[in-house]
Amino acid sequence: MSIEQKPLFPSILLIIVSALLFCGLFLHFVQVLRDNLRYEIGITLRETVRQGVNTLHAVTEGQLRTLRFIAARVTDKALRDPEKTVAMLRSMQKLRDDKRMGFVLADGRVFTTDGETMRTASGLWRASLEGREQISDTIRDCPDGKPVNLYIVPMFQDNEPVGALFSVMPHDDFARHLVMTFWQDEGFSFLIKKDGSVVAPSRRVEAAGITNYIATLAALPQTGHELAARVQRALDEGETEFLHYRTTGNRYAYVMPVGINDWSLVSVLPAHMAEDRLRSVMVGTGMLGAVQILCILAFIWHINRVQHNASTRLWQQIYVDPLTDGCSYARFLMKASEQLTELPGRWALLSLDIDNFKLVNTILDQETGNATLRTLHDLLRDWADRPNELVARRTGDVFVALLPLTGRQQLEQRLDDLCSRILQTPVDENDSYRLVPSIGICLLPEYPLADTPLETYLDKSTLARKTVKGNHEQLYAFFDESMESIIRYRKSIENDMVSALAREEFEIYYQSKHAASDGRLVGAEALVRWQRNGVQVPPGDFIPEFERNGFIVNMDRYVFLRVCRQIRRWREDGLEPVPVSVNISRLHLYDPGFVERYMRMLDVAEDDRKLIQLEITESVLLENASLIKDTVSRLRAHGVTILIDDFGTGYSAMSMLKEVKVDGVKLDKSFLAGMGTPRTDTLLRSTISMCRSLDMEVTVEGVETAHEVAFLRSLGCDTLQGYYFSRPAPAAVFTAMLQEAQPHA
Ligand code: C2E
Ligand code: MG
Ligand code: MG
Repeated sequence: MSIEQKPLFPSILLIIVSALLFCGLFLHFVQVLRDNLRYEIGITLRETVRQGVNTLHAVTEGQLRTLRFIAARVTDKALRDPEKTVAMLRSMQKLRDDKRMGFVLADGRVFTTDGETMRTASGLWRASLEGREQISDTIRDCPDGKPVNLYIVPMFQDNEPVGALFSVMPHDDFARHLVMTFWQDEGFSFLIKKDGSVVAPSRRVEAAGITNYIATLAALPQTGHELAARVQRALDEGETEFLHYRTTGNRYAYVMPVGINDWSLVSVLPAHMAEDRLRSVMVGTGMLGAVQILCILAFIWHINRVQHNASTRLWQQIYVDPLTDGCSYARFLMKASEQLTELPGRWALLSLDIDNFKLVNTILDQETGNATLRTLHDLLRDWADRPNELVARRTGDVFVALLPLTGRQQLEQRLDDLCSRILQTPVDENDSYRLVPSIGICLLPEYPLADTPLETYLDKSTLARKTVKGNHEQLYAFFDESMESIIRYRKSIENDMVSALAREEFEIYYQSKHAASDGRLVGAEALVRWQRNGVQVPPGDFIPEFERNGFIVNMDRYVFLRVCRQIRRWREDGLEPVPVSVNISRLHLYDPGFVERYMRMLDVAEDDRKLIQLEITESVLLENASLIKDTVSRLRAHGVTILIDDFGTGYSAMSMLKEVKVDGVKLDKSFLAGMGTPRTDTLLRSTISMCRSLDMEVTVEGVETAHEVAFLRSLGCDTLQGYYFSRPAPAAVFTAMLQEAQPHA
């Protein structure tokens, strides 16, 4: 039996949705991280640029302040004696890094510390001669053509500009203060003018290929023109701008006006610096996410496993019979109901159990009992192996089966086969117990009523089974409506039996036994009768029921005691008693204390023990020969005579008689039915002669005619019992017969 697998689809869908959700969240997280990082970079770059601007201001202000100070000292002298002033400046220059110093007078004369004296009309000085301080762009120095920058301050007399003092700086010295690097030299700054051209080109800037920043931006693919326009607007309006663009790599840049000339400071940072950090955060987050996904997958897998195990256990508990490992009764009901509604045709429902199965557990042991049930289950499953045939254990030793009905005769053949298979099934190595099945069959109507539960039909098959229980001649029965009244009647018997025994409603009848040779009274059989509410009930109506419910044991003891008492009374009344046989149910034989209990009850004188005979039915020999052998030999050792009742009705008790030594056999009356036919006569003759040769007394029951008497006598039979001599009669009637038969009478 396999477990119905749960579809994987929901789990897979759950995993895919979780993974997509995680990826979405991860990408969103990366985007938020990137935005944050960009914002952080913007702030950092702005601070860097601001610091650069401050440094620039500090450096240029320092230069200009010195020049302002010198200008204030030398203005008057310069106007009066320019040559001396040049000498003064020359001595000051020694203390400074200037390439040269000089001044321009309002009339256009220029005096320099390297001795140049010229007249200039250059616009370079104009602003300073109008009173403004200046720092020049990088220009070529006249004498050597090297790049230089000029700091120029106005010279005042009476608050009126009268000239300009200047200092010529080698460009490299000038640029040293302006070109800054930061962030482990990866980032760099440079000055640009309003038209985008670089004010103080440095190696770093040249290496980046920037001579005009606007042009550099404009040359970028796709967004170049837009970036160039943004920077141009910022330069024109003296505002800041933050850029992110791609050249040889990603770049971030910040543009800020410096407030000196029309200059702006640009700081550029390669994006990889920042993105390396972003990448490491992303990789870390990705790995964390992957670990989380793995954990979730492991968790889902674990939950799935736990669920699968739990449902397997549940499935097992509900659908598997723990004892046989076969289909459980619940599953049988479910599948049977399905089949009955889905498949057309007729069906048979079977209910099967084993007679007195509890004896297997008591005589042998629980484990053997369980193993036997497993064997029975397997046997049934092999038997009902056709399509759509179902078998299950209902409870204890009760099994149920559903079979498609192909024909009643066919079914009967199969049932015969099943019964013989069960009868041949050994319970243990010694083959010490015979399994006798009882089977009830309910044939379902072609269209079972939808509102009739299956259990109703099963109850009917159970009812049919109960009608054959304990009946070893008929092992199966088909349900018919009359069975319900039989069962009701049996139920009423069961209800009344205990009180009936207490009220002594059971009466002992005696049927005489006679010597075949001369008809003498030689014995009797005690046969019970139930005087129930004034009506005499024959044993056939209640004995099988008592055997089923075990009450037979109590009743047999009662009969046995009453017979012992009767023998004693005959003695007390001065009569010579004849041996009386008492029927013993086979249930006693499975009671280990049976022999001792009966011997204690044997309330007669030692000499009279021979007068008590026990009749044991032949079928018991087939059930459990070794047990019977032991019990019988112990009883005989106590002086009790043992007779095998109903001899010849079983399968083959003859072979058993070699093993179990008994005192006599009672041939069943069915033997007489075929009397006169050569076959029966031969059988009778050989049975009688064989029993005699084994030293057993032969009694024939059911003798009704003189012809039978004569024939049986001719066969050498010992004793005869039957209506020909007398019917079973109350004790008083039989006592009278006994009196008449007394030797002295
Ligand atoms: P059984 O021990 O084989 O008893 C013989 C049965 O055959 C008796 O039926 C008897 O009345 C009947 N019988 C005797 N002669 C004739 C005859 O010439 N013709 C016909 N047709 N029948 C005859 P009964 O009394 O109805 O008993 C039936 C069975 O009930 C007995 O069969 C025995 O197995 C059982 N039984 C009776 N009394 C007791 C009892 O006290 N204890 C137990 N365990 N079983 C008993
Ligand atoms: Mg009998
Ligand atoms: Mg009999």
